[in-house]
Amino acid sequence: MNIGPGRSGLIMDEPLLWEKGRAGRNGMSIPESDVPSAAIDGRLCGAGPDFPDLSEIDVVRHYTRLSLWNFGVDTGMYPLGSCTMKYNPKINEKHAGAPEIAAAHPMLDDEYCQGTLKIIYDLQNYLAEITGLDAVSVQPAAGAHGELAGMLIFEAYHQSRGRKRTKILMPDTAHGTNPASAALCGYTPVPIKSGARGILEVGQIRDLMDEETAGIMVTNPNTLGLFEENIREIADIVHAKGGLVYGDGANMNAVMGIADMKKCGVDVLHLNLHKTFSTPHGGGGPGAGPVCVTEELARFLPSPRVEFDGTAYRLEKERPESVGRMHCFHGNFGVLVKALCYILTMGAENLKKVSQRAVLNASYIKQRLKGHLHLAYDRPCMHEAVFSDRKQQEFKVTTLDIAKRLMDCGYHPPTIYFPLVVPGAIMIEPTESECLEDLDTFIDVVKQIVREAETEPELLKRAPTRFKVKRLDETAAARRPCLCG
Ligand SMILES: *Cc1c(COP(=O)(O)O)cnc(C)c1O
Repeated sequence: MNIGPGRSGLIMDEPLLWEKGRAGRNGMSIPESDVPSAAIDGRLCGAGPDFPDLSEIDVVRHYTRLSLWNFGVDTGMYPLGSCTMKYNPKINEKHAGAPEIAAAHPMLDDEYCQGTLKIIYDLQNYLAEITGLDAVSVQPAAGAHGELAGMLIFEAYHQSRGRKRTKILMPDTAHGTNPASAALCGYTPVPIKSGARGILEVGQIRDLMDEETAGIMVTNPNTLGLFEENIREIADIVHAKGGLVYGDGANMNAVMGIADMKKCGVDVLHLNLHKTFSTPHGGGGPGAGPVCVTEELARFLPSPRVEFDGTAYRLEKERPESVGRMHCFHGNFGVLVKALCYILTMGAENLKKVSQRAVLNASYIKQRLKGHLHLAYDRPCMHEAVFSDRKQQEFKVTTLDIAKRLMDCGYHPPTIYFPLVVPGAIMIEPTESECLEDLDTFIDVVKQIVREAETEPELLKRAPTRFKVKRLDETAAARRPCLCG
């Protein structure tokens, strides 16, 4: 079996420290005590902890090996669709961690933090330019949080026009957070099935859009990795009935410098800085989901926003129509710094190239794998390609088996069983980070797994074979988490 780049040389059978310990081993030397020893009262402190005796190098190696079990973009390809697990330049972390930035106190008066306010102000403007929209708040801490801000803005807008609306159109290719965010604001999501081409059809929107409906939430590119080509027409229909268009821009990595979301008819859009703009996604760390709006909706944006009067930057707090605060202080400031550094170091041309290359890489994988895995929609894709296990069903091999086998071969598995519109989905997003040779290696490995599915299906059923922990009960892990070790 071809062992891919991320897994060679790992020691997976690491014992527990308790198994490794040997009586009398020690990790430190401390001076002999110069006071008489005294017995500790067992009733006060119990029997004492059962710590193993270990040397310093025992401990260093143990934890270093464990740390290598983590898989990250810095280890190997991480083709997790819908997540944009791309390489984030380390220099941006360095800037965000600089003491002047990381230690800036969030409660300083505006006059003492002009630099940090300028960072936010400049970022607001760049994100406006990238999306084509007019005004931005960088407060939301995640994509779903940006959606929530967006839904509050929908609500505020309709209230301001004196009409509360109750429903929201929700395509089946929307990200799962979309209906949740709408519901959280009291809207009832009205499901819409995508057409045969995997994108929205205009007729359905025309049938469903009415004056009870606040608007539509469109993920574009959608979760099938397809561009919603009818977006402008759809937006016109929604607007004609007094509704608003929400664009889920978490997939902006596919269209930077290419699609102008305002021209597409989008009124409100969030971005995921922790996908597209140089903060890792999925690491459990802070993120940011700025929300961008048209001029008309700027008054509803979360407060405070950073303004510039020609000489000084200030936090503009008097915004009576604002939906209010979404985050304490200035949002996740370190993430904002990284995004600004990334945008400035790349420049407009290179941001566009990022998207072109992300799309090219996904298209390359789509074309080269489509004879081997069933391709859900054989159309030009954007930044990700969605396959399924349909061809492998005759060998009783499933998407899960393929994903687990990929782990044996040095890859993080792609996103699986999502989007729900494709049964047994395998959603591959290579991002712009991968070079041609690495894409070819990945494609060869997938082809090899597809051959194994025919010749040795039982091997795939046993995968992952090289890991200490095999198949986990993921439902129980989510429903009954054991947090105490
Ligand atoms: C990732 C993603 C989200 C949610 O972002 P979080 O930061 O995880 O809340 C929303 N929509 C789309 C299309 C996404 O890919």
